[in-house]
Amino acid sequence: MLELRSHVAGRWVGGGGSPQILLNPATEQPLARASSDGLDLAAALDHARTTGGPALRALSFAERGALLKAVADSMQAQRDELIALGIANGGNTRSDAKFDVDGAIGTLLAYVEIASSLGSRTFLVDGEGIQLGRSARFHGQHICVPRHGVAVHINAFNFPAWGFAEKAAVALLAGMPVLSKPATSSAMVAHRIVENLVEKNILPDGALSLLVGPPRGLVSLLGGQDVLAFTGSGATGESIRAAPNVIHHSIRINIEADSLNAALLGPDVAARSDMYELFLKDVVRDMTQKAGQKCTAIRRILVPMEILSSVGDDLKELLSTIKVGNPVEEDVRMGPVATQDQLADVREGVSRLKGKVAFGNSESVFSKGFFISPILVESPGDTVHEREVFGPVASLLPYSDNPAAIVTKGNGGLVCSIYSEDQPFIEATVSGVAPFHGRIYLGHPKIELSPGPGTVLPQLVHGGPGRAGGGEELGGPRGLAFYMQRVALEGARPVIQKLLG
Ligand code: NAP
Repeated sequence: MLELRSHVAGRWVGGGGSPQILLNPATEQPLARASSDGLDLAAALDHARTTGGPALRALSFAERGALLKAVADSMQAQRDELIALGIANGGNTRSDAKFDVDGAIGTLLAYVEIASSLGSRTFLVDGEGIQLGRSARFHGQHICVPRHGVAVHINAFNFPAWGFAEKAAVALLAGMPVLSKPATSSAMVAHRIVENLVEKNILPDGALSLLVGPPRGLVSLLGGQDVLAFTGSGATGESIRAAPNVIHHSIRINIEADSLNAALLGPDVAARSDMYELFLKDVVRDMTQKAGQKCTAIRRILVPMEILSSVGDDLKELLSTIKVGNPVEEDVRMGPVATQDQLADVREGVSRLKGKVAFGNSESVFSKGFFISPILVESPGDTVHEREVFGPVASLLPYSDNPAAIVTKGNGGLVCSIYSEDQPFIEATVSGVAPFHGRIYLGHPKIELSPGPGTVLPQLVHGGPGRAGGGEELGGPRGLAFYMQRVALEGARPVIQKLLG
């Protein structure tokens, strides 16, 4: 069986002890093993800090952008292989796996463009200079410089390529070395990406490390110049936030966690209109793409009370066309969830929703594999606002006058989508939900090729307050700030201007 080793301190190292076995979630066939037992993580972090960091900081933004372009080209060259791994190890349909790999490449390329706009500097000039006194000589200027630590990236299982690339692109462009830790269960894609980058010697020594297997004491080894960007469950996020050294060293952390994303159908939308069809299409895509294992997927569907049952009927009809099965079969539209634990978690979550199951059920679909049908729950209990079910599950809820008040019971989310052309309704709803979200998607049938609310775009921020973790990443050049220290220069204007170059 394939052994997935970690690439740390400039070399490939395997862990000891009893490894975790990575499976094909459609067949339960073992594919690979991984262990981080016995790895010298302190030495791994040190190598990144002392070798990768200086090498990246010596480069201009344009030169770091050239590295990102080489990473994107390398992934493009192995695209078919990565898609096949996403199908085998992630239970993805081909379309799901393409979504992950192409999302990764697209994000890298977006940061290549940002790099070229930042040009030959090695640090960022933040805003205009400021005259601080009566004399123009007394001057202030903010700049952002790369931190001297390592950027540790801990990713969730659902987007092994995109999750890796969206974080690595921003950190490397900012000038920080990266130690990336994919979720163990689906680590084959990220492992193969890094293997290829190392084989081709694309990045400077120490600029990118890969830890495969459980994180062990990784978080406790971080110091004040390091940063930690985490994507995963709220429970793990909470434990990271509470780690003694995170508190003691004020380690900068970004947490992307759970979300009960809502989609709202406006009272003005007529059945069968283009807006109505777009709404149905987005809901069904979010429920079934990647078997609903997307942090941005729609979990709560809010519709005017009077049309609750007709919307339910239309959704049921569309869901009945989704063929669930082994994603190697071409007509399959939804594969299994990623692991046995994930399947158990989805079943338990559905039982807690306590509504009427209007479509699907939690029963086994086949004798092998972690399959579950799409599940639509009508009029669930209050748990729908408290607990994310990370699978092909969504709940249909009625509203009468103020849907924003229902949406905000979710206590913070990544994205809320609104489908309406009634401007006063849009304005009232946006102002009601905006403080509780990182992104609001305003669905419109005339936007061609819209990827829907479930797609994270590199130009826009991703994250959300409260339950969603309180984090924020990407957002084009905004994302760089997390990896940099903003410092105010205060002094004589000519001296500062010379420093700026
Ligand atoms: P998870 O169990 O929290 O694991 C996430 C990552 O954290 C994995 O790499 C895991 O490693 C690692 N990890 C586990 N325990 C840790 C610890 N004590 N210290 C440091 N790292 C630790 O979450 P998951 O089940 O993979 O992902 C599903 C969840 O992620 C869902 O709740 C979903 O909402 C959320 N998610 C959020 C976003 C977002 O952008 N907001 C995106 C995707 C997913 P191992 O795999 O080795 O255990």
